[in-house]
Amino acid sequence: MKKIIIAIDGFSSCGKSTLAKQLAKKLNYVFVDSGAMYRAITLYFLRNHIDWNSENAVHEALQNITLDFEYNDLKGTSDIFLNDENVESFIRDMLVSESVSEVSTIKEVREFAVAQQQQMGNKKGIVMDGRDIGTTVFPDAELKIFVTADVAVRVARRYQELFAKDANITLEEVQQNLEMRDYIDSNREVSPLKKANDAIVLDNSNITRDEQLSIALEWVDEKLKD
Ligand code: C5P
Repeated sequence: MKKIIIAIDGFSSCGKSTLAKQLAKKLNYVFVDSGAMYRAITLYFLRNHIDWNSENAVHEALQNITLDFEYNDLKGTSDIFLNDENVESFIRDMLVSESVSEVSTIKEVREFAVAQQQQMGNKKGIVMDGRDIGTTVFPDAELKIFVTADVAVRVARRYQELFAKDANITLEEVQQNLEMRDYIDSNREVSPLKKANDAIVLDNSNITRDEQLSIALEWVDEKLKD
């Protein structure tokens, strides 16, 4: 059976990971959340007080970072491990969210993450979501989807998700963080977030998760027939 690479990119909190997970489950493919890697690196920098404006400090810190994904049977997806510690429960905290986009602008950080992401795709049969998957990580991916949704919809979704963990979180805080990350991600020098020329746009503002999955599966079917 032919296996392909599916690259899913888009702005923050527009449902990329949800779609990527659904597709991976349906197709029996590996799902990789590339954002989790940038988040885990940021967590390491914060915990170890790394001055990420210093090239030397970043270079040295990256030598001490090992990232792994391990399948979690209970959740049905993979958890990210930073130096053998499962850090899933820390990487989506506001503290990490506030710095992750800045850390993600650093060339050496991107090279470190992209090299590992490309390695994971060498056998195909993978769905990876992020910001530069269709443009930089897998420019030859058979299927590229650029997911988008109205800002208000994205803020509401993210707020719901974060509120479940922290009742003190405010809608304004969530909106500010989302807009800040989108701005930095779209304007950075190295691999900015942008739609690959050959990506198909999927606006999910007014459709359900199931509808989104059906649309994407039709695109997958077409690519598998090619
Ligand atoms: O996908 P998620 O929102 O968890 O990603 C967190 C941050 O990691 C993004 O806001 C972006 O700054 C960075 N990122 C990136 N390139 C990717 C995935 C994530 O720069 N491929």
